[in-house]
Amino acid sequence: MPVASSKMHADLTLVNGSTGDPVLLIDYPDRDDALLLDGGENGSLSLEQLADLTAVFITHHHIDHFIGLDRIVRANMDRDKTLSLFGPPGTIEKVADRIRSYEFQFFPFQKIVIDVCDVHADRLVTGRLDCGKRFPPPEIREVPRCDRMVFKNETVQVEAVFADHTVPCLSYAVIEKPGWFLESSALQKSHLKPGPWIAEVLGRLRQTSPDPSPIHIDGGTYPLATLRDKFFRLSSGARLAFITDTFWSDEVRKELLSLAHRANLLYCDSFYLSAQASQAQKYRHMTALQAGELARLANVERLILIHFAQRYAGRYEPLVEEARAEFANVTAEIR
Ligand SMILES: [Zn+2]
Ligand SMILES: [Zn+2]
Repeated sequence: MPVASSKMHADLTLVNGSTGDPVLLIDYPDRDDALLLDGGENGSLSLEQLADLTAVFITHHHIDHFIGLDRIVRANMDRDKTLSLFGPPGTIEKVADRIRSYEFQFFPFQKIVIDVCDVHADRLVTGRLDCGKRFPPPEIREVPRCDRMVFKNETVQVEAVFADHTVPCLSYAVIEKPGWFLESSALQKSHLKPGPWIAEVLGRLRQTSPDPSPIHIDGGTYPLATLRDKFFRLSSGARLAFITDTFWSDEVRKELLSLAHRANLLYCDSFYLSAQASQAQKYRHMTALQAGELARLANVERLILIHFAQRYAGRYEPLVEEARAEFANVTAEIR
């Protein structure tokens, strides 16, 4: 039996690097269940990529975290599915307003249902926006919230806590469930093409005593164990935390540390250098040094800096150096 790995198995794309709107695509290549962390600019993602989304997690409604909603809605209009969309209180109203601002031609093939969830500290309030019914006022349902979890499917669960920003703002963690995952890089190097066989292999591997009979792929026959060893990896579970637009204040420090605790990957707000600490306090952002401190205290594996302020354009390196003074394994995607 292979040894379980603790690394994240999704393909991760930091859509605008460390210097643009913080947007992270979490994609499992064999499935139509991608996740998008935050709703900022996503013009470099294709409509096909956005159509694979199963859930979107918006941190707050500042324009650099919400402007991408239009393309998400457009890419999913003709999908016969329910797209989940999470955000702080007020998200249902703001998304419903945006949807009502369009004129729709209402083709019968446009079937998207969007379940928009306002995440409160003590409850989850969901409003259903249904294209097939021509977007009437959302039906609201409410459930109490007793832990950090806001979403789960067969692959992941997602947690949310409140950050300390100028407006209500959430930070998220995505936790992959332990189990079997496709190693997409291994498949890319192979002559085999992705297809329904991937779901068949995963389905069998998840059984307690998998059916060992061979798998048929494009006219060929392959033993289950061969496919398993070549293309699939056993995961012990991995955690990714996404923290942006928050001040590193006493009010949220404990919750943010707990959200990021022992994360394999921490994407963290590093808007300012310490020299601009007073602006960080005023506009409720973190400094790169504080991002390093959070990573060290939370004992994460790797820190990826995000959301560098435009004022540092062309001289972003000091932000990385400042974080590195606190935490060695830090990277940034400078564009
Ligand atoms: Zn903001
Ligand atoms: Zn922002």
